[in-house]
Amino acid sequence: MRESYVPSSALPTLGIGLIGTGFMGRAHALAFRNVSAAFQLPVQVHLAALADADAARAERCANDWGFAHAHGDWQSLINDPGVHLVAITTPNHLHYPMAMAALAAGKAVYCEKPLAISLGQASEMRRAAQAAGVVTRVGYNYQHNPIIGLARQMIADGELGEIIGFQGEFSEEFMGDPATPWSWRCEAAHAGGALADLGSHLLALARHLLGDIDAVCADSHTVHAQRPVAVGSSEQRTIAVDDQTHALLRFANGARGTFSSSWLKHGYKNHLSFEISGTRGTLAFDQERLNELQVYRPGQDGFQRILAGPTLPGYAVFCPAPGHQLGYNELKTLEVHALIQAVCGHGNEGPDFEEAWQVERLAAAIRLAAAEQRWVRIDEL
Ligand code: NAD
Repeated sequence: MRESYVPSSALPTLGIGLIGTGFMGRAHALAFRNVSAAFQLPVQVHLAALADADAARAERCANDWGFAHAHGDWQSLINDPGVHLVAITTPNHLHYPMAMAALAAGKAVYCEKPLAISLGQASEMRRAAQAAGVVTRVGYNYQHNPIIGLARQMIADGELGEIIGFQGEFSEEFMGDPATPWSWRCEAAHAGGALADLGSHLLALARHLLGDIDAVCADSHTVHAQRPVAVGSSEQRTIAVDDQTHALLRFANGARGTFSSSWLKHGYKNHLSFEISGTRGTLAFDQERLNELQVYRPGQDGFQRILAGPTLPGYAVFCPAPGHQLGYNELKTLEVHALIQAVCGHGNEGPDFEEAWQVERLAAAIRLAAAEQRWVRIDEL
């Protein structure tokens, strides 16, 4: 035990209010529970309240996950004086009203991606965050991967030379079967399609690694324009969002790139991937092998595989041994750690609403380019 060790009971309390108990609600709950075990924090994390539209489910999950209170409506969670930080893990169209209410109450906000369902909403959220002066973060968890940190450092250090190419893809297959029913993800007013769902992660990662993108041209396609309203139902609902979107990218640093997002690509479960080429080498990554980076420098016989290990920042808090591998939920814990550090005034790691607005602006530019079938400069929006 270090001499400076302060028992967590002697620390100020940070009350967490979590909204949503689905896929991401559980991931956030795990991260908020694990972060104090992985890191010595400047605060005591208190799981103060959990809200879900389904009050019985909120009650059950609060018990199971260790939250002190359950709420059947989210506004009462935001009003709860014991909640200092509001985590939003609801369908995309609810991010705006929930984040705006939390900001108005002066609380820190941790919102899932995509930030909003329109650039107009994202702009208001960005302005409200600036005015509130509180910490905001958005759940682009993949960039908290220690091996992504290594890739970013190698690029920044010039190890690849001048960056000339980016090929990025985020494909999954979860909507690949046309009999997979409609969900809120298929509704423009609730979500925004494969571009919003998967593409937002890839755009955030491209910016994280290579910086600003100046211009895009794009094509968007809805392959399955009808889906059953529920599993096995013969009633069909028209789908108005993209199943797949492809784009060309021009980066401010001069590099050229490609982008694609699809939720129809059979065989892929979480294929967030990129190849970045420079004048002196190439890096390749695939989230399905999230502990590996492939590196090629001229003169090698092929790509060299680098395995994540405890020398990379963020790895050793989970495991002292190389090659034992981190997982998706560890990335979420690293994200929550960066968030808590920022809330406590220690560092400014992680994408905030300002950065998420940049990502939303890029997504809007891609939609406009696809709709008008032309190159769009980002500063048009
Ligand atoms: P989900 O459908 O599994 O869960 C949504 C939850 O929100 C449910 O518990 C639902 O009851 C609750 N909810 C709906 N309306 C509500 C309301 N009015 N008040 C309170 N709760 C309400 O969805 P999900 O897959 O968890 O996705 C949620 C968000 O997380 C989305 O924005 C999605 O894009 C994002 N997400 C991010 C990642 C990532 O890797 N960062 C992965 C999956 C989903």
